[in-house]
Amino acid sequence: MFINGQWAIPEKKNTFTVLNPATGETIATVPDGGEKETRLAVTAAHDALDTWAAATAYRRSDFLYRAHTLMMDNLEHLAQTMTLEQGKPIKAARNEVKYGADFLLWFAEEAKRVYGRTIPSARSDQRFMVLKQPVGVVGAITPWNYPVSMITRKVAPALAAGCTIVLKPAEATPLCAIEVFKLLEKAGLPAGVANLVTARDPNPVGEVFLTDERVRKLTFTGSTQVGKMLAREAAAQMKRVSLELGGHAPFIVCKDADPVHAAKGLSLLKFLNTGQACISPNRIFVHESMKEPFLKELSSRVFKMKAGPGSEAGVSIGPLVNDTAVEKVDNQVKDAVAKGAKLVTGGFRLMENGLDKGHFYAPTILDNVTPEMLIYREETFGPVAPVISYQDEKELLTMANDTRYGLAAYVYSQNLSKAMLLFEGLNFGIIGINDINPTSAAAPFGGMKESGLGREGAIEGIEEYLETKLGGFSLK
Ligand code: ADP
Repeated sequence: MFINGQWAIPEKKNTFTVLNPATGETIATVPDGGEKETRLAVTAAHDALDTWAAATAYRRSDFLYRAHTLMMDNLEHLAQTMTLEQGKPIKAARNEVKYGADFLLWFAEEAKRVYGRTIPSARSDQRFMVLKQPVGVVGAITPWNYPVSMITRKVAPALAAGCTIVLKPAEATPLCAIEVFKLLEKAGLPAGVANLVTARDPNPVGEVFLTDERVRKLTFTGSTQVGKMLAREAAAQMKRVSLELGGHAPFIVCKDADPVHAAKGLSLLKFLNTGQACISPNRIFVHESMKEPFLKELSSRVFKMKAGPGSEAGVSIGPLVNDTAVEKVDNQVKDAVAKGAKLVTGGFRLMENGLDKGHFYAPTILDNVTPEMLIYREETFGPVAPVISYQDEKELLTMANDTRYGLAAYVYSQNLSKAMLLFEGLNFGIIGINDINPTSAAAPFGGMKESGLGREGAIEGIEEYLETKLGGFSLK
């Protein structure tokens, strides 16, 4: 834990272990923070707030530039820590560190562009002026699937805006958070501006964030279930909330699409992070005329995928986070098969070659998926590609929008006007058009409906940490 510029030395009894999801081995022991530590961290953040908010934007920006340089200098070490702790293949871990560092750079730049404005008044003796000011102390909660970039995506805009922050990382990935905070410390951040509370049990930490009046803003990435609870409870003190929650992305292959290009895109996107991403496709709508070439290309690519520890060469399928995740995936696959889906490949837990000690599931393709199946509605968060064929493109929008989620959607079409109409009609916050990676620190990320509130990254990302203050000046 890093509170008020100090690293806490854990007493032996207040620790928890971190496991390698590829081997089940214990890799570290970290401090287990609770109510007391969170309260101390909030006090530190509160005490540091006025000075940090009053620092010039240039000073805050300098600090973020330094943090960015340090993160790039330490890319390999962070990536190795991530692969060990979270399981993703080392190449993907390196990409994530770069993506994470991008937020530090982007918000180093945006810190200097927090503009207010003046507004003409109807009265000649009056002036209006709008000022943007930091929201105050931020409580941040991050998930394990992107354990570096989800931290910088929150910490960088908060600090750029002049807020101070207390972060609670996921219990499965505290080591990545510790490494990120070591870099923030090295960058010379004043004590109390960014604080880290690692915890095995998120509840007491969340409770302090929700009930301590000094915390003015909650930012959360995780499940819709927890997000809804946090939003409900935060309303008691009318705290500002930003929520990045679950998704159930449609991936639409139109009848004029290039099926091979679409299948290649899907194979890269669906199995990225072993399907553990909120923007992972969860319903793959393929026009029936495209299904054969699409499935042929997809399965030939999936057959070649190698599962194993992320540190091994050639591995593209890492472990799932834990046994519960494996069971959930397997349950969805069994349910689909029982209801008539066809298993093209996969559909089982991987147990051979030492993989039984970790949480590995075979990359899976399901064909003939229908709305009655669990996988059609529930987020999978695993390496399963459920294919649904359709005939009439007029029904596409209704089918694709038929979900309580609204985070990401993907469209493959060679017809510009069709792609444009789908882009406009899909009720999702992020749409990839013939593109599998519509994410960047420069682009707004976030969802509609039960996928959340607010946006991260881009110019919108810093707005989430700013209050708008109006001044009406009478010249009389
Ligand atoms: P997942 O199912 O992906 O693990 P969660 O929403 O459970 O998603 O976890 C995302 C983050 O939310 C983690 O940091 C976790 O510790 C935290 N979290 C889970 N439950 C609570 C809670 N009751 N209060 C505060 N944070 C929570």
